[in-house]
Amino acid sequence: MSKEIRVRFAPSPTGPLHIGGVRTALYNYLFAKQSGGKFLLRIEDTDQTRFVAGAQDYIIQSLKWCGIIPDEGVGVGGDFGPYVQSERKSIYRQYAMQLLDSGNAYYAFDTPEQLEAKREEYQLKKLTFQYDSKSRNSLQNSITLSANEVNEWLSSGKPYVIRFKMPENEEIVINDMIRGVVKVNTSTLDDKVLFKSDGMPTYHLANIVDDHLMLISHVIRGEEWLPSLPLHVMLYKAFGWEATMPQFAHLPLLLKPDGNGKLSKRDGDRLGFPVFPLRWPLDPELEEIASGYRESGYYPEAFINMLALLGWNPGTEQELFSMDELIDSFSLERVGKSGAKFNPEKAKWFNHRYLIAKTNSEILHDALPFLHDYQNMYDNQTLERICGLIKDRLHFAKDIRQQTFFFFEAPTSYSEKAVAKRWKDDSATQLNKLIELLKSLNTFDSVSTENAVKQWIEDNQYSLGVIYNLIRLSLIGDSIGPHIFDITEIIGKEETIARISRMIDALSNANNNNDD
Ligand code: GLU
Repeated sequence: MSKEIRVRFAPSPTGPLHIGGVRTALYNYLFAKQSGGKFLLRIEDTDQTRFVAGAQDYIIQSLKWCGIIPDEGVGVGGDFGPYVQSERKSIYRQYAMQLLDSGNAYYAFDTPEQLEAKREEYQLKKLTFQYDSKSRNSLQNSITLSANEVNEWLSSGKPYVIRFKMPENEEIVINDMIRGVVKVNTSTLDDKVLFKSDGMPTYHLANIVDDHLMLISHVIRGEEWLPSLPLHVMLYKAFGWEATMPQFAHLPLLLKPDGNGKLSKRDGDRLGFPVFPLRWPLDPELEEIASGYRESGYYPEAFINMLALLGWNPGTEQELFSMDELIDSFSLERVGKSGAKFNPEKAKWFNHRYLIAKTNSEILHDALPFLHDYQNMYDNQTLERICGLIKDRLHFAKDIRQQTFFFFEAPTSYSEKAVAKRWKDDSATQLNKLIELLKSLNTFDSVSTENAVKQWIEDNQYSLGVIYNLIRLSLIGDSIGPHIFDITEIIGKEETIARISRMIDALSNANNNNDD
């Protein structure tokens, strides 16, 4: 029987969750769901100095907004809890002791000052100090001290750490599901701290113990953890857990839009797009409020679709994937090794595609808060129709106002560029005649008005392009917007005529003034 798929997302609550973190959570989720496995959320808060209040809740809310719902873990519960590492504190000591007993770890008593002195000593020799198989023999630890000394220091309450005793010159070969075979010689690795005398484990110990106890089958995480992989594998060996060791998959980095370096927490607002799923108002380090995808008007489905394709290639031309389709199609084999460039324009494109797939009534629902002072001008049916007419031009529901203002208000100015191009000496005469025609119409729906105007243009041998553009200019003040006769139907005959005559006045006067 093959092992049940159990994966975890294990963020540290050190601030808002970066979109790279959301992508890690998403790939874990997709991987679990496609095999009927479990997706866990574990909070890794052993480094209390980096703890940021509100970050855990932010992580939970972000995943919820994205529809990445854990089967087990913080906020959900499960048989392997607690799922917050600080609440599991009492569990780790025995594992640190196990490594001490088996000779895979040792006590070290070096004070920060002593270690600093060592660092300086090495620096003078143009060397870099690390606590490792060579240097440990000249430092204060249970390898160099006598058993009595160690016991004395421990009982006197002298601060200590427990370090992993990295074997000398051993070749570690690991098969990463994305990166392939990774080979490292242990002589390049340092003796990492696993446990501190305040009773707290470090990330490395807690992470391995928890993955083991929580029966994690696959560790799917960001590439920044690849350097920790050899130590983690050595820890599994040291505990004698090799047979059940998870498989590893290290995801490629998310890169800045220009491809130069990792997309960092600070990039977003600086480069003009969010790097966080939700707005983060708390981080004093970032100094200002960090914007979020949710507040910027993204649909979670579009956000997720965009993220899924940053690193994973479906192998087809398909770009739009619902969560269910992602679950069906995702595979770690198709996740690339090289970094994925973040493309803010593509992100907007995804949102646009999800927006236009909605019904007019759904779009109106999302857009209504942005039309609050206008909404009483029309009934719902008309507002929905307006949404339908302009949705092709919308990236976000919040853009509705900018795309529809002319349904609600007459233009107060006319684009200089459009006027220069469209307004001619005979324009006023033509438009005055047009007003006479419009006045004579009994029905004002889009099709009949268009037919009547077309006929009138033909009868007078005017240019269709010229007249249509003048009408557009009078209705909107610019050369943008949807079909003009849909606008005239909605704003009505009286308003249409009023706008045309207002433009005649405004532009004829402007021209007269210029002549003065
Ligand atoms: N706590 C680590 C982080 O913040 C988790 C790394 C891992 O998944 O092993 O990303």
